[in-house]
Amino acid sequence: MNAIEFTEKARKKEIDIVEHTRKVLEKLEKINREYHYFNTISAELAIQQAEKLAKAPKGKLCGLPVSVKDCICVKGVETTAGSKILKGYRPVFNATAVEKAIKQGAIIIGKTSQDEFGFGSFNVNVGVDFEIPKNPFDAARACGGSSGGSAGITQMADFPHIAIAESTGGSIACPASFCGVAGFTPTYGLVSRYGLIDYASSLDKIGVMAKTTEECRLMLDVIKGHDTKDATSLDEDYAEKKNEKVAVIKEALEVDENVKKAILSCLDRNGIKYDLISLPLAAKYATPAYYLIATSEASTNLAKFCGFKYGAEFSLDDSFNNFFSNARSSCFGKEAKRRVLLGTFARMAGFRDAFYLKALKVRTMIIREYKEAFRHYDLLVCPTMPVTAPKIDEISKLTPLQNYMMDVLTVGPSLAGLPHLNVTAGFSNRLPVGMMAIADHLNEGALFSFGKGIKQV
Ligand code: GLN
Repeated sequence: MNAIEFTEKARKKEIDIVEHTRKVLEKLEKINREYHYFNTISAELAIQQAEKLAKAPKGKLCGLPVSVKDCICVKGVETTAGSKILKGYRPVFNATAVEKAIKQGAIIIGKTSQDEFGFGSFNVNVGVDFEIPKNPFDAARACGGSSGGSAGITQMADFPHIAIAESTGGSIACPASFCGVAGFTPTYGLVSRYGLIDYASSLDKIGVMAKTTEECRLMLDVIKGHDTKDATSLDEDYAEKKNEKVAVIKEALEVDENVKKAILSCLDRNGIKYDLISLPLAAKYATPAYYLIATSEASTNLAKFCGFKYGAEFSLDDSFNNFFSNARSSCFGKEAKRRVLLGTFARMAGFRDAFYLKALKVRTMIIREYKEAFRHYDLLVCPTMPVTAPKIDEISKLTPLQNYMMDVLTVGPSLAGLPHLNVTAGFSNRLPVGMMAIADHLNEGALFSFGKGIKQV
């Protein structure tokens, strides 16, 4: 039963919501001991919500188990963004997306694991004292990141479930690809970021993962919309345009041979006709521009975490500088420190013009390149990731640069704020291969009809 059928039944009282929630929580405890998809399972809140709802079942998400990435605030539930520095932080409010989901009857089952603050592509950059989630197809492999927990539980759940996740530069598409689920990242601004612990504010998007595209749509339609609490949220809705003209991005086919084969044969199998087009700027410059902009923004966004106001507390009997240094040295992981240093450097007086401002100009050029492509095509298609899920111990051998290069296909649409969808194209050596479709701003309708049309193998 999918989430759409489930909520229909729940509204008609054909499902005992409290009993169902209890069973789901039991399963989660068991799965989590081995796979580490949750930083927190919010059992108490879930039962409370289920009991309330059972009395008067209603809403588009009636009784549906919903997981929330740990960087998105849930009132009263520990919210850490995967970082030790936020241990013990319990928000006093819900993120707008969470609030909207709860209003429609969602049952919040827990906070899913992630790379610390979203800094990673494999979910192995977890914070100090956090566990690495394991791929549901092979526990020695990574889930992908940074929303690894969301993707892992979405694949493994044998009950109806939808995940609210977040992407800055591919954090929904990448893990969705490695775990074989649908991952939907909307146009920048379609979903309010209020209550999201920010990584890079000009890039962050709250989105959705589910087993099917239709279920992603169900959730997106609940959480989207203008929010007076987020000045960057849009007051326009997405369109229902057609997905008639498809182009495959030529440069994006320079990937693992099996990945390329799976994508092209999926398009053929589904009778999708396409042209090959070239997007040279995105291929060559999106990764460096993304990492300069993302780390610059992250380095300022993280300044508020200092062991003083949120989460972990430190004693005040030290000098001012020691106090902050101790908190940040002991609580930030290696990758978080690397990104604060890189970002601070890139926007420092003397280097700003050469790095940060140059990256912003490149971003504008990349946006123009996509916009030109969308004058001729409705959808651009490519592999989501250049490889299938790697082994966790292989990832530790990659240099930071090799790590960053893994995002070469997802950072382009992210820089341009374009909506994109991951669907499973096929399998290679028993691991899912993700295919990504990218649409023009606010043309999510085309992505939904594309995703719906792809027959799963
Ligand atoms: N892998 C990218 C990064 O590390 C994207 C992560 C994200 O979208 N949060 O920045």
